[in-house]
Amino acid sequence: MKKTAIAIHGGAGTILRNRMTPEKEKKYKAGLREALILGNELLEKGGKALDVVEEVVKVLENNPLYNAGKGAVFAADGTHLLDASMMCGDTLKAGAIAGVRRVKNPITLARAVMDQSAYVMMVGEGAEAFAKQQGITFESEDYFFDQLRYDQWQRVKDTPMTILDHTDKGEKNFSTVGAVALDQYGNLAAATSTGGMTNKQFGRVGDTPIIGSGCYAENETCAVCCTGHGEPFIRSVVAFDVSRLMAYKGLSLEEAAKEVVMKKLVERDGEGGLIAVDREGNISLTFNCEGMYRGSMVSGGEGYVAIYGDE
Ligand code: ASP
Repeated sequence: MKKTAIAIHGGAGTILRNRMTPEKEKKYKAGLREALILGNELLEKGGKALDVVEEVVKVLENNPLYNAGKGAVFAADGTHLLDASMMCGDTLKAGAIAGVRRVKNPITLARAVMDQSAYVMMVGEGAEAFAKQQGITFESEDYFFDQLRYDQWQRVKDTPMTILDHTDKGEKNFSTVGAVALDQYGNLAAATSTGGMTNKQFGRVGDTPIIGSGCYAENETCAVCCTGHGEPFIRSVVAFDVSRLMAYKGLSLEEAAKEVVMKKLVERDGEGGLIAVDREGNISLTFNCEGMYRGSMVSGGEGYVAIYGDE
């Protein structure tokens, strides 16, 4: 069997040990491990990278700990506006949705846009109408209710302020979920999903559903998913830049990821990180903030799950 590899994330930011309880830490790591093990099993059984990243992101979307799907943050109008995207490194086809309400698994809708339409991106009510046509599962607004996220929203409701997930007490925690994979056939894929920022207004959309910024995959180079402050990530076209540095400058995956996250993004106040895998199965989990919920596993390996920068 040819080598397979998977990497996942559940968001990045000011994640400090002294603010985390052992129980909370355990829960976050268990959530990551569950998604990682599923992804690795599917890949080892011959699953295609594109199907695997979708399944893995679905698991993370269904877990209320992460800001995507069920755990999505509150927008200014008290609803949950969901963004997601995915890309196939083999065909270079991509699908994305933004500002969609009540869809249980936004990543499945992004997949439907990619596979069942002539478009790459759909937004708002139009995307919801397409979801209904495609028989995609919707949930009630109650399904997305979470007390912690509601309380966060209450603190900034009716102000122009937005919060990147748990930005309480001046902390900056970004949160989004993502998965990248290399399958046995040498194909790469990336998938990512988010609720964006608490109290976001005026139809704000971050980098997550922007192909090339929050998500990119190309078999010749790598598959990348980002998490962090969306605006600088969009302006820096982060995911595509990593791939181009490999293609044009011949950098390794790790060198390219470091150049973008630790240099370019830092210069632009772009806090956050990314997960990436290349066609040899090398993995990069790079971030320029205190922590990133993250994990990786290669076929036959033990797997690695971590939160803080020193793990
Ligand atoms: N990048 C996402 C956004 O700006 C947020 C995140 O990754 O936490 O919408």
